[in-house]
This record gives sequence, C-alpha cells and structure tokens, in this order.
Amino acid sequence: MSCFEIIHQNSPARTGVLKIHSGKIKTPFFMPVATKGAVKNILHKELTKMDFECVISNAFINYLKPGLEIIENAGGLHKFMSWDKAIFTDSGGFQLILDHFNPKVTNKGVYLTNPFDKSRELISPEKSIEIQNKLGSDVAMVLDHQPLFGKKRSDYLDSTIRTIEWAKRCKAAHKNKNQLLFGIAQGGNHADLRQKCALALTKIGFDGVALGGFGIGEAQSDMYRIIRAVKKVLPKNNPTYVMGIGSPLEILGAISNGADCFDSAYPTRMARHGKIFTSNGNLEISKAVNKKNLAPLDKECDCFVCKEYSRSYLHHLYKTYEQNAHILLSYHNIYFIQNLIKNIRTSIEEGEFTKFKKSFESKYK
Ligand SMILES: [Zn+2]
Repeated sequence: MSCFEIIHQNSPARTGVLKIHSGKIKTPFFMPVATKGAVKNILHKELTKMDFECVISNAFINYLKPGLEIIENAGGLHKFMSWDKAIFTDSGGFQLILDHFNPKVTNKGVYLTNPFDKSRELISPEKSIEIQNKLGSDVAMVLDHQPLFGKKRSDYLDSTIRTIEWAKRCKAAHKNKNQLLFGIAQGGNHADLRQKCALALTKIGFDGVALGGFGIGEAQSDMYRIIRAVKKVLPKNNPTYVMGIGSPLEILGAISNGADCFDSAYPTRMARHGKIFTSNGNLEISKAVNKKNLAPLDKECDCFVCKEYSRSYLHHLYKTYEQNAHILLSYHNIYFIQNLIKNIRTSIEEGEFTKFKKSFESKYK
C-alpha cells in the first residue's frame, strides 16, 4: 500500500498526505534543515507554531557527533532533540563527496576521514541504514552516490549504476517497520539516466523515490526538465521529493511540475547573509537604503518580525553583528516559505494554482 495519497490535483501540481508511522504530513511540504538536530537560529516550538510538520536531519553528521550511543541513550533522535513531529534523515550522501572528509568512493561504500579523531572509516549502504534505524527517524534515505556538478556523462552513468546497487543493499538491510525508506534517483542532467535509475528503484520497491543532486549549480530549467522526465516513469502516487531546493521560485516551479516535498538550508543561510525573501522579490538588509526605512521587511507578511520591527532596526542589528539579526531574519525567511507553501496548497485545492503561480512570479521578479 502506498504511503502517499493524492487529495487534489491541479495538473500536474497536487496536494496530498504522506502517511508515516506516527501520523500524516500534508503535501506539498518544505522541511527546514536540522543537520545536527537544530534549525539554525530557530527554536523547534517556533517551527511548530508555523505549522511545520517535518524537519530533515543528517544521519552521517549525527553519527560523527554526538554519536549513536548518546542519541540512543536519550531514546532516539526525536526525544534527544525534543521534536515530536516528523523527521527525515538524509544518509549523508551529499556530505560524503565534500573534500574535507577526504572521501574515496568504492563499490563497498565511501571511505572517509572522521574530522574529529582523524580515523578512516567506511560508510557502506548497510552502515548508513543501521545508523538511520538507530536514530529512529520517520523516513530514512538510501545512501546514494552523487557526483559533483558538471562531470562527464560517463561519471553520471557510473554513479547511477552504483546508486542502484547501493539502493538494493539499503533495502535488504532495512528492518525498521516504523520507518519509511526512500530511494534517490541520480543521473545529473541526463534524463535517460535519471529515468533508468528511477525505474530500477521502483522495481526494488521503496516507499518513495526522491530526486537528488540538485541545488549545486544546475540551471532551473534543467531541474524542471528532469523532474518531468522522472515523473513520466514513476507511479503517479510516488511521493516526489526534490532534495536540496529552497528558493521561493524553485519551490513554486518544482510544484508546478508535480513535486511534493523539499528541503534546503537556503532560507536560513540567505537570512544570515542578509538576503530576505519578500513578496516583491529579495531584499538586502545591509543596503544603505534601509537605514532610515521604517517599513517592515514585507508589508504582506504577517510574521511577528514584520509586525513588530522596521527595516531600519533590522539593518542596524545586522550591521552591528547583533545575533538577534540572524534570529529575526531567519524567522521571517522560513515563515515566508511556509506561508508560500500554505498559499500554494490552497490554490491547488481551489483549482487556481496556475493563476496563483503567475501572480506570485510577476511580483517576485
Ligand atoms: Zn515577515
């Protein structure tokens, strides 16, 4: 039985519910990134108030620190971080390609250097699943092999084949009945490789097939083309998770191509760099034009930051390196994304998605 039920279709955009062991998550949804068990500068209770139903944490990073023993001692990741809503865990396939772990990918898995004690260890598909089983997340992701952006087709072909082989091993190693398991389709910008991977994953039998390897430099048009190509070969009720995207226009574009869920550190990272989402496009709070401007960040936003603080005050906090600037700006950006998602859901339910998209895009520029 599928864990995903489509409720409204405003073709190809749709709303639905993802059924996890402990309940349901309304789709489409965006997951704030809690890599180490916390979303940067935002408390869990604020996420709850904003109606976020899910965050994504990183299995590999939690495994390194604080380590499984500490998290198991607390009763699992939910209890450790005191978050009773849903948690996805990323296997860490993305981190494993970063140079500072000195990774070496072989068919066995990825050999890497633990940055804390400099020991060399192997993260295999089986190990990655064992870690996620112990963390007790609601949705685990397979270990995939993601090449860096802009590689040769032969590199993407190799990684596609390896990702399929690793996915089989992840599936065989997965024993936690309370946890869904998603496969990840790789293949870069090559639609045929992505389709080959997605078909193979469907055959292995996952609760969902995600698309990985985005948010690292590809053109938006390529991403939408790949989503459309993969959706052609996936079952209609596959919950389509597009990993690593978090800008307002990308989320809107991906949903218009039938995507259901997303995660990205982009909104909070942008906030820390003073780049603010508004209904009229991005605003740079550090610019001198904001120095004496008593208007809110976004007149159309009803978050507490926009209700209580002026651009002038936020500009001052930002320019003087006050920590509260990061807290307030991060809150607004993440609220903006959640509000966008809610408006998208409503527009799909009312059969007005195309109209909503056009109107949002024309203002956002
Ligand atoms: Zn706001």
